[in-house]
Amino acid sequence: MSSESQKAVGQRVRRRRRDGSVVSRNMAAIRSRGTVPELMLRRLLRALAKPLRVNVRTLPGSPDVVFPRHHVAVFMDGCFWHGCPQCYVRPRINRSYWSKKIIRNQKRDRRVTRALRLAGWSVVRLWACRLSGSPELCSGRVRRVIQRRSKP
Ligand SMILES: [Zn+2]
Repeated sequence: MSSESQKAVGQRVRRRRRDGSVVSRNMAAIRSRGTVPELMLRRLLRALAKPLRVNVRTLPGSPDVVFPRHHVAVFMDGCFWHGCPQCYVRPRINRSYWSKKIIRNQKRDRRVTRALRLAGWSVVRLWACRLSGSPELCSGRVRRVIQRRSKP
């Protein structure tokens, strides 16, 4: 999730493309795949262990990054969509629609985490804001989990 996603939904976001043209779109249309924090996550985690898989659709919740050998699944949770306690801002319009949606997402996150753990995976969930604010802390968390899983 980009920092754009921390603004209220319903706001129009204007962004300048590299060629100078301006993109304007509704917050609701912004998807989480391939965003800057997500690419950053991959870059950070690639240094930790091999092999690494991204967007693994065969596992519950399609984890953003998976270390199959260590059975570690990592999610990068966008602050708006997953209701980050630090920076989620309730949209000014369609409040009940959005709070229901965010609560549903949070429930799904918990369900997915539980399903993965039951299947023997270690799950690490990282907030997008923490990832951009303290990337080394985030990769440190993942590194410790991988190390724990590497012990015989
Ligand atoms: Zn956040």
